Amino acid sequence: MRIGEKMVSRAGQLINIPGILAPLLVLRHPSWAIPHYGVETINGIDFERAARHGIKGAVFDKDNTLTGPLVEGDIHPDVADKFYEAVNIFGAEDVLVSSNSIGSNDDLGYEGAAALETRLDNGVRVLRRGWLKKPAGKRATQEALSHPLNKYMGIGDRVFTDIVFGNRCGMLTIRVNPFTSENDIKGVSGMRRLEGRLIEALHGRLGVQAPAHELYNPSICVGSHFNGRY
Ligand SMILES: [Mg+2]
Repeated sequence: MRIGEKMVSRAGQLINIPGILAPLLVLRHPSWAIPHYGVETINGIDFERAARHGIKGAVFDKDNTLTGPLVEGDIHPDVADKFYEAVNIFGAEDVLVSSNSIGSNDDLGYEGAAALETRLDNGVRVLRRGWLKKPAGKRATQEALSHPLNKYMGIGDRVFTDIVFGNRCGMLTIRVNPFTSENDIKGVSGMRRLEGRLIEALHGRLGVQAPAHELYNPSICVGSHFNGRY
C-alpha cells in the first residue's frame, strides 16, 4: 500500500457510516450492540458444532479478526488453522470476508480485496461493499451468500461495525478481542473504549441481551464472555 492510499484508508476509518448510523441503530435497537458470544480469538469457536446446530457459514471481519489491523498480509498465524477449518466445514462459497477497509471505497480499485483473495487462493471471497460500510450493506451481503443471513455467524472485533451489522442481519454474532490496538488511530481507540463502556452499561448494568436467535447454543463457544441465555 502506498503512503497516500494508507492515509485515505486511515482517514476512512474515522469518517464513515458506522460513526453516524451505528449509534442511531443502537438507540433504536439496544440489543444489536450485544454479541451472542465473546471470545478471545476465533479459536474459541467450535465451527463443527455450529454446523451441527444449523449454521451454514460465516462472515468474517478482516482487520484484527483474521489479520493484524490495516495490514496486507496472510491470516494471522494464531488463527489461520481455525479459519481454514471453518472454510472446510462450511465450504468457501459460504465463507465471506466483509471488511470496512478492503472491499470498501477506501480500497482503491478493490486492489486490497483482490490481493487477499489471491493470497487465500481457496475460493473465499471479499465482499465489495463500496461506500456501504458496516453496519450498512445488508443487501450486498445477502446477494453474495446462498442461504438466508440468519443461518450465518457474523464475527468481528468492533461493536459499532461488526456486531451491530451482524445482529441487524439476523446473524449469530461473535465478538473477538483485537490482536492489538497498536495500529489504531486516535479515533478508533476512542471508539473501542466507548464500545466497551456501552456494552458494560447495556449488558452489564441494564441486562440487555443479544437478540433472540433460534440457532443459539452455548456449546458453540465454550467459555464465552456472554454466556447468558439469549
Ligand atoms: Mg476489525
